[in-house]
Amino acid sequence: MTRDRFAPSPTGNLHIGGARTALFNWMHAQSQGGRFVLRIEDTDCERSKKEFVDEILTSLKWLGFQWDEVYFQSERFAVYREYADKLLGQGKAYKDQGAVILKMPQQKIRLNDLIRGAIEFDTAELKDQVLIKSDGSPTYSFACVVDDALMEIDCVIRGEDHISNTPKQMVIYEALGFRIPQFAHLPLIMGTEGGRLSKRTGAAAVSEYRQMGFLPEALVNYLMLLGWSPGKNREIMDLAAACKEFSLKKVNKTAAIFSMEKLRWMNAQHLKGMKTQALRGLLVPLLKERGFLDGNFDENRLDEMIEAFKGRLVTLTDFLDWTGFIFKDELLITLDLKEKFFSKDLSMEFQLLRERLGRLEDFTKAACEEAFRNLTAELNMKTADLVHPVRVALTGNPVGPGLFETMAILGKEKTLKRLSEAIETQWIKD
Ligand code: GLU
Repeated sequence: MTRDRFAPSPTGNLHIGGARTALFNWMHAQSQGGRFVLRIEDTDCERSKKEFVDEILTSLKWLGFQWDEVYFQSERFAVYREYADKLLGQGKAYKDQGAVILKMPQQKIRLNDLIRGAIEFDTAELKDQVLIKSDGSPTYSFACVVDDALMEIDCVIRGEDHISNTPKQMVIYEALGFRIPQFAHLPLIMGTEGGRLSKRTGAAAVSEYRQMGFLPEALVNYLMLLGWSPGKNREIMDLAAACKEFSLKKVNKTAAIFSMEKLRWMNAQHLKGMKTQALRGLLVPLLKERGFLDGNFDENRLDEMIEAFKGRLVTLTDFLDWTGFIFKDELLITLDLKEKFFSKDLSMEFQLLRERLGRLEDFTKAACEEAFRNLTAELNMKTADLVHPVRVALTGNPVGPGLFETMAILGKEKTLKRLSEAIETQWIKD
C-alpha cells in the first residue's frame, strides 16, 4: 500500500502549482489503494500564517482531496532535534554557533526519477548542510527527510523546482540510515506565453478560482491534464475515473502550459453536463449572497432560468451577471446601448407590443412569440429590428437567451413595466 504526501508551506495560499502537486499525489495514492498524507511544513514561524493553513485546508477539501492523516511540522521540533543529536553523536554532523551541520560525504548519487529517468549528482558540488538552525528550527530538507522517513512515504511526488533539493536530501537519508523513497518530479507549469506562471497568466489561488465561479470538478479535470494524459484524446474526466487510470509512467517530462481559455472551456463543459437541480444547489447560495434571492423563492421558476442559461454559462458567476435583470427592480441601460439600440424612435412599436403582450393570459414563450411575430408582420418590419431593442429594454444586455424565453422568464408584470419605462425614458419628445 503506497503512502503519498502533499507537503505545502503555509506561507501563501494554495496556488495552481500546489493544487496540481496535491492532485497528482492524490491520484497516485488512490490508483494504488494507498493513503494520502497531508503535512503542513510550518517550520518558518515568521512566514507561516494560520490564515494560509486554513485556506490550504479549505481548498484541498473543496477540490475533493480528503487526507487520511495530517501533521504539522511546528509540533515536531523535538523529533528533528532527536535525529540531529543522533548525527552529532555519530560524528556525521557538527555544531557551529548553535546550528547543527551535516558533513557532506564525497560521493556520486544516482536518482532514478520515476518521471525523468536516471539523474546523476556529484556531492563534491554540495556544501555542508545546515540541519538545525541556530534558532532551533529545522531546515526544510532536514525536516522533510525525517518526516518522509518516519511517515513511511513511499513516493515523493513534487514539482520539478525541487529537483536540486533531492540529492541533498538523499545524503541525509543515507546519513540517518533511512530507506530512500522513490521520487517523481512533475514538469513545470508555464504560462501561455512561455514564461513561468504569473498572476496574469493564471497563477491565482484556488480560492480565487472558486470565487470566479469555477467548479472544483472542472479545475481538477483541467489540472490533471497538466502533465498527464489519459490517452485516446480524452479530456473530460472525473476524478474517480482518473484515479483508476492514473500512472506516473504516463506523466510527461516537458513543461505543461496553463491556459485560462482551456480552463474556461472545461468549466463550461462541466456546467453543461450538470443536472439542473445540482446546479441550483450551487447557485442558490450565490444568488442569496448577491441579494437576488431571499428565503422563499419559486424553485420551478429558478430551474427554468437555469435551463435557459445553462448551455451558455462559462462560470457560475455568469449566471448572476446574466440573470441580474430578472431579480433587480431597476435596470441600468448604459449610454452605449442607448445610442446603439434606441437611436431610432420605436415608441409606437413598443406601445403596440406592450398592448399585445398585455392581452396575453398565459405568458408563455410560445404566446409571446406569436404576439410579437404577428405585430412585426402587421407593421411590415423585420423581426430583428424590434428584437434587439426590446431585448436591451428588458434585460439591459444585448446578448442572452432567446427573447421570447426571456420574456416568459421575466414574467408579464416586469416585461410590461420595462417596456413602459423604455417608452417613457428612451424617446423623450421635446
Ligand atoms: N514545503 C515544500 C513546498 O511547499 C514541500 C516540498 C516537498 O514536497 O518536498 O514547496
